[in-house]
Amino acid sequence: MKNKYVFVTVMLAVLLFLGVGLTEIYVNHTEEKEDGQYTVVTSFYPMYIAALNVVGENDHIRLENLSEPQTGCLHDYQLTPADMQLLSTADAFIINGGGIESFLGEVAEQYPDLTIINASEQVDLIEDNAHAWMNIEDYMTQVKTIEAELSAADPADAEQFSENTEAYLAKLSSLKEQADAVKPLTEGKNIVIFHEAYEYVAEEFGMQVSYVMDLDEERQVSAGEVADVVRTVTDGGVRVILAEELYGKDMGDTVESETDAKICYLDTLVRGDYDADSYLNAMQQNITLLKEAFSDEKDH
Ligand SMILES: [Zn+2]
Repeated sequence: MKNKYVFVTVMLAVLLFLGVGLTEIYVNHTEEKEDGQYTVVTSFYPMYIAALNVVGENDHIRLENLSEPQTGCLHDYQLTPADMQLLSTADAFIINGGGIESFLGEVAEQYPDLTIINASEQVDLIEDNAHAWMNIEDYMTQVKTIEAELSAADPADAEQFSENTEAYLAKLSSLKEQADAVKPLTEGKNIVIFHEAYEYVAEEFGMQVSYVMDLDEERQVSAGEVADVVRTVTDGGVRVILAEELYGKDMGDTVESETDAKICYLDTLVRGDYDADSYLNAMQQNITLLKEAFSDEKDH
């Protein structure tokens, strides 16, 4: 009889332990808002990394990213019920702007009190192209705008935002210097790009874009387009093509087999490991790749 009670007590203790443990895992996963916390939601990866560097280690702020890690660019993105649930808890929503968040109207309508921070507000965007984070200088402007508007929305943390931002901008400035050091190799060069985001790279490095084939999703490329690219490369003396590996590899292989141009695969910085330094590291790698591509081109 006694043993039975001991058994029941032990079982109850085990169940209670499991229950608490599982609840904890669940809570940690969804990051429920705590009392007094200010919730900042970002629309996609580059905005998340920018905001993470402005916010830093701060218990008052709950920072969350809207889209799934592998979403990439948000063109044609549909908000999920989980996104709407997350936005319903948000105090501020940081977007890239320039039309990349095509669902913005829906959000503004549903949450009229939400503070929307448009990071590109002070950026001179290239017409019909809002991939401004791909230009280090424009990205620095975005970071400054995020800092200014977050500070206005949450003044209690303004001092910390300012310190964090200053430290991040210092790192970005030295990254910009490294990019400028490569400019003598790239300036004035005719290039072809397989992703419109690289118009911002061309802008920063002084390159001339002679042809844009936008391959930022899987699609059929017509024989006419292939012929156009090959002709542009051959006639325009194009030695380097900038492409994204994910969607541009097939086209890259085709052009590489038909011309002497070299394909330089750059990161569009829309995916990553959510590390605060991931923009710095990926852009650093892009600069190294550009330097290699255009140095080889010199001895050609
Ligand atoms: Zn895009």
